[in-house]
Amino acid sequence: MNAEALPANMKAMVMEVQGRPLVSKILPMPVPAAQQVLVKIIACGVCRTDLHIMDSELSHPKLPLIIGHEIVGTVAQLGTEATKLKLGDLVGIPWLGYTCGHCKYCLRNQENLCENALFTGYTMDGGYAEYTVAYQDYCFPLASMYGNPSGAPLLCAGLIGYRSYSMVRQDAKRLGIYGFGAAAHILIQVARHQGKEIYAFTRDGDTKTQAFATSLGAVWAGDSTTASPELLDAAIIFAPAGQLVPKALKDVDRSGSVICGGIHMSDIPSFPYELLWEERMIRSVANLTRKDGHEFLALASQVPVKTETTLFQLHQANEALAALRNGKINGAAVLVM
Ligand SMILES: [Zn+2]
Ligand SMILES: [Zn+2]
Repeated sequence: MNAEALPANMKAMVMEVQGRPLVSKILPMPVPAAQQVLVKIIACGVCRTDLHIMDSELSHPKLPLIIGHEIVGTVAQLGTEATKLKLGDLVGIPWLGYTCGHCKYCLRNQENLCENALFTGYTMDGGYAEYTVAYQDYCFPLASMYGNPSGAPLLCAGLIGYRSYSMVRQDAKRLGIYGFGAAAHILIQVARHQGKEIYAFTRDGDTKTQAFATSLGAVWAGDSTTASPELLDAAIIFAPAGQLVPKALKDVDRSGSVICGGIHMSDIPSFPYELLWEERMIRSVANLTRKDGHEFLALASQVPVKTETTLFQLHQANEALAALRNGKINGAAVLVM
């Protein structure tokens, strides 16, 4: 029923076991289930979560696994019941790959916490490949301006940043961002569009990233061990470093919130209750809902968010991951197919 001739095989970078580099493979073309579509991948972002999966900081991945959950591509084949998309549609595929719709979390509009969720590039195959399959209801239509590698970082870095930001009081003025990578460089554009003052905290001595933050409009950028020059209304931590939690608590004003945006963080050191006193808050952010995705992608094209990308070919995935691990990427690393 789908006339377009598809190749029989595809290239993919595969994680056979955790703790080892990805392996280049030729795999049979995946076949979409009834509610799925086959997507020809244009680009896939490289995310810190990919490192957490490879390093076994996230357990029980599907194995062997194709990682990658910031996918931009076009619909190349429809499952037998996939009627909501058309061949050729430009879509983005995020981390949230499937939810059950009937667990207690789904029923109270917290599908990001679904007990039966599947995650792209973790419990389902993802985007370090030429093609992938995805459930039609979890593919986001993308504006044509993002139908290229610049759209990929929106699908995780952008979305998780947005969900973290949505936890901040709307009347907050001064916002601290701790860890200025892919998520931060997108969020700062949205937050500035909404009139926030951004204070950017980076690894100590990382003057290059501090200059990058300033170039994107941060009013201040400096080392994460330096006290904030102003008391902040909220802090968002993207760096996976637990010691930043008490540090950020020191930087926030009364009733200020410290939002932990990552999926994994090193242990948080103990700290005096005084730092939390006066109704300061700490909270984590898990996954995303489809509502977050639709809201954020609409906002992104309105700002419009521009992403800074460092491009790698698919077969260079291990190099891209190493560059991310070593803090060598300004903005976001993206694989192009
Ligand atoms: Zn559920
Ligand atoms: Zn991610």
